Parts: sequence; C-alpha cells; structure tokens
Amino acid sequence: MKDTAKHQGLRNQLVTLLKEKGITDKGVLEAISKIPRHLFLNSSFADYAYQDKAFPIGAGQTISQPYTVAFQSQLLEVKKDHKILEIGTGSGYQTAVLCLMGAKVFSVERQNELFKQTSALLPKLEIGIRPKHLSFGDGYKGLPNHAPFDSIIVTAGAPIIPQALMAQLKIGGRLVIPLGEDVQIMTLLIRKNETQFEKHEFGDFKFVPLLENKN
Ligand code: SAH
Repeated sequence: MKDTAKHQGLRNQLVTLLKEKGITDKGVLEAISKIPRHLFLNSSFADYAYQDKAFPIGAGQTISQPYTVAFQSQLLEVKKDHKILEIGTGSGYQTAVLCLMGAKVFSVERQNELFKQTSALLPKLEIGIRPKHLSFGDGYKGLPNHAPFDSIIVTAGAPIIPQALMAQLKIGGRLVIPLGEDVQIMTLLIRKNETQFEKHEFGDFKFVPLLENKN
C-alpha cells in the first residue's frame, strides 16, 4: 500500500487535532505528521487510520490511539540518541514515532504473531530501527543486557510497576507506564538516585493489559 497526498492531508488534520488536545512537543508532532499509520493497520481499517482511535491489530491487541501515543511520547522528553526501551511493540507505530524522533529504540513484544508481523514491517519504513533491537519476550523482565535506558515506555496497562524496569532506568531517566486494572492512570516516574523515584500522575487512559509470564 502506498503513501499518497491524501494520506498526508489526513495526517496534517490529525496533527492539528493533537495540538488542539494539548500536545506541544514539536518532535512528536513532526513524527506523527510523517509516519504512514495506515501501513500499521489491517487494510480493512486503513480508511480510518488517521482518526484519533485505537483499532484491533490481531492477537486480541490494539494499536494505541494517536493521542495516547503522542501523550506518552511527550512525557518521555525524547532527545536525539536517547536509548529507549518500549514494552509492548504491538503494531510498531509507537516504536516508529520514537525512532523518527532520533531515539535508539529497543522494543519487546510477547505475542509471537505480532512480533513477527512488526519485525517484517518496521525495517521497510526507513525509520532507522535495527531489527535486532526488536525482541520476543516478557516485558516484565525488561532487557537487562541493554540496560540502563534513558527512558522506558510501557504501552499496556500494568497492575504494578515491574521492579526490573525501575532497575534498568538511568539516574535522571523517565519511566512512563499506565497503571491500573480496568482503567489506568498514566504515571511518570523520574529516577532521582539509586533508591528514589519521583512520581507524577496524568489522568485516566484505557489500555489492553500487560500480561505476565506467558512465554
Ligand atoms: N505500542 C503498541 C501498543 C500495542 S497494545 C501500538 O501502538 O501498536 C500493547 C501490546 O503490549 C500488545 O501488543 C501486547 O501483546 C503487548 N504486551 C502485553 N503484555 C506484554 C508483556 N508482558 N511483555 C511484552 N509485551 C506485552
């Protein structure tokens, strides 16, 4: 499927909407204005790709709503060459946003079907992802071999903050995680030192659950 002038027009409208909803980070808005979200969806949903909505992507999972992707990306305060860990690759759309912002992204997915699908798609998009940085596994464990990270983003609703993720964050690093069972509170932890984390909360969001120990 191609990326056309019509798609670009729809992306520009989406960016305008995200600005109206309060997204201000220029890097986030620019990435969203460039990434062909219709390529991350099953073709039956492609016509709706630039609506600010979540859609099914297979294996009972969803591609996050663009506003949620933008909100989480903005909380990360991404700088060029930041090393970022993403838990829940899913469609790879959030991964692509962070890559286009200049980050070096590592991403973990626990559904093999999605891992395979997204590992095939992302390298075709020229966003600078390294295929070996995509892995199939349990995100509760993080990626100790590649730690520490400048920031960590969890894109599924977590009942608790996984200890391993806190341990893999640099001092000064940011962990963005939706916390809760049915509805999640978007939570930002900033690591102050070896033992202390500052916590900020940003209201309710709705995610598919972060599932434990399935691999
Ligand atoms: N960023 C993705 C969000 C997909 S939904 C996107 O916008 O497309 C959340 C994803 O987290 C799903 O793909 C789900 O399979 C994955 N997930 C759930 N529990 C996980 C775990 N323990 N480890 C890694 N990935 C997990």
